[in-house]
Amino acid sequence: MHDYSTQSVRPGVEREELEFDVLFVGAGPSNLAGLWRLLDLIEANNARPGARKLEGLTIGLIEKGDAIGDHAFSGAVLDPAALVELCPDYQERGFPSEGEVKREEVWLFTERGGFQAPVPPPFLRNHGHPIVSLSRMVRWMAEAIEQREVPGVDVMLLPGFAGSRVLWEDGRVVGVQTADKGINADGTPRSNFEPGNCLKAKVTVFGEGPRGHLARELEEVLQLQAGAVNPQLYETGAKEIWEIEPGRVPDGFVLHSTGWPQGDGESGGSFVYKMGGNRLAVGYVVSLDTRDPFADAHLALQKFKTHPRIKPMLEGGKMVQYGAKALAIGGWYSMPRLAFAGGMLVGDAAQMVNAARLKGIHLGMKSGLCAAETIVQALLEEDFSEAALSRYAQAFMASWAGAELHRTRNFHQIIAHGLTPMAALKLGISLVAGGWTPGDPLRGSSDARATQSTEAFYGKAGVKRDSLDWGVKFDGRLCVSKLDDVYASGVMHDEHQPGHLKIVKGDAVCVGCWDTKGSPCTVFCPAQVYEMHPDQDGRVEKVAIAFSNCVHCKTCDIKCPEENVIWTPPEGGGGPKYTLC
Ligand SMILES: Cc1cc2nc3c(=O)[nH]c(=O)nc-3n(C[C@H](O)[C@H](O)[C@H](O)COP(=O)(O)OP(=O)(O)OC[C@H]3O[C@@H](n4cnc5c(N)ncnc54)[C@H](O)[C@@H]3O)c2cc1C
Repeated sequence: MHDYSTQSVRPGVEREELEFDVLFVGAGPSNLAGLWRLLDLIEANNARPGARKLEGLTIGLIEKGDAIGDHAFSGAVLDPAALVELCPDYQERGFPSEGEVKREEVWLFTERGGFQAPVPPPFLRNHGHPIVSLSRMVRWMAEAIEQREVPGVDVMLLPGFAGSRVLWEDGRVVGVQTADKGINADGTPRSNFEPGNCLKAKVTVFGEGPRGHLARELEEVLQLQAGAVNPQLYETGAKEIWEIEPGRVPDGFVLHSTGWPQGDGESGGSFVYKMGGNRLAVGYVVSLDTRDPFADAHLALQKFKTHPRIKPMLEGGKMVQYGAKALAIGGWYSMPRLAFAGGMLVGDAAQMVNAARLKGIHLGMKSGLCAAETIVQALLEEDFSEAALSRYAQAFMASWAGAELHRTRNFHQIIAHGLTPMAALKLGISLVAGGWTPGDPLRGSSDARATQSTEAFYGKAGVKRDSLDWGVKFDGRLCVSKLDDVYASGVMHDEHQPGHLKIVKGDAVCVGCWDTKGSPCTVFCPAQVYEMHPDQDGRVEKVAIAFSNCVHCKTCDIKCPEENVIWTPPEGGGGPKYTLC
């Protein structure tokens, strides 16, 4: 088993222990919806005549971003189904919508043109849905929670604290330890050393988003993936926010495309969403089960912007923010066990994304709502066993969200190698047959292991990415280099701390990967964290890791073909600073 403890196990260090009834890890939409609903339900319970009162409760939420919303990153067009359940009057309560979808285009792009669907396929119909910045949306949710006063309940929102390891007692989860702060790269404490705390809870809700570091530990220790058909699967999405000239894109405009610049046999696609204030979100997602060792979401985005349908929208405009993140696309057949003694997994941490719709916010939020209902029951019965908490899993699977994931259960596998005529046929069948398609369940392979050698994929043994022509000129205006984009993410880490990206199998493995696969980490990382510096003879000794560039997308942890990288949380507060993403 991997060591997930990061820098936070230090024998002899005294740690404060804080007791919670319920602890949420991660301030994404899934957990914030869960916490909000939990407060509603406790209030409703306590107002019910004759009901056993839930009083003297302490509920905590930790978030590794410096402020809630700093690490929130998405597309995003929101299916408001779960939001309406949570807050039916959200529009009157100042919900930060960027506009409402009014005009939609869906394309199969070729390099110079393409084919536009006469009407969007059913799964890409978004008419009337709000366009949002997830960063702004979760700030709004956190503010609404902060303004609540529920008698008998103490709520603590704790941004700037990263959960670094799971706390266990007799095989059950009893909380998390937060990461130490103020340590030197060599592990010695600095004058500002602050030991992480042990946050103990009767129930811990893990909503870390895609490829959660703690969720990984839980999966391994509790074998949560054992009953799943497929491994957990991901895409990486890179996105830029542009300020554009007025009139270039109408309000409420949404475009999705597949095809170019992805090569044949590859899967991915784009999104273009008109936001408020004459801003435009332009993004590209690349499936990580690609065989291509040089797959690169950032490069795909740069090429995509040069397409004749897209370029005129951006002319005269300016890129103002950049971000990147993994997206958990495995869906129904990749979902882990959702509940265990003392804890639950919600949202992207449990692969709850509808890949066909490129949507997971509403599903994650619904999982939070279902989790809250189960937690109230557990608090009333004082039973936090796996059997008691598993009612959450049953409720989620039986809800509209479970049905939606079931209906698209084969989607990614069908198009994993591109929208071929056979894939289109299978997709058509699955649309009319409630998700069934010949071969159901279609199997998927691990993202890391799907990567081929450069010889197998490019027909050139030992070829390096920089020796190939990628057809993009980084002019700093339309096509932005990775480093310039990283700057626009606002990313910052205390550079004195130990690197949080762990090479677990040794440098020799990286050297072998350079020789055979051209070091995919130096290509797929959307923040240029990894670099190989060959000597005059082309030999390398190790990979150089600029961890301070890391935007916490988790792609390296997922896609390193040698499974040689583990992403661990840096000191709380470090990372990107998204305000519009
Ligand atoms: C490019 C892209 C486009 C997308 N487009 C759309 C769209 O248009 N519509 C849609 O509905 N969905 C979209 N999604 C998916 C959507 O963003 C996710 O499904 C959703 O954000 C999941 O919510 P979550 O709360 O589960 O996780 P997240 O939103 O990932 O939130 C997790 C939070 O936990 C924090 N965290 C993680 N680990 C720790 C830790 N150890 N300690 C403390 N805090 C921690 C993170 O910093 C983060 O704030 C898109 C995703 C991507 C990447």
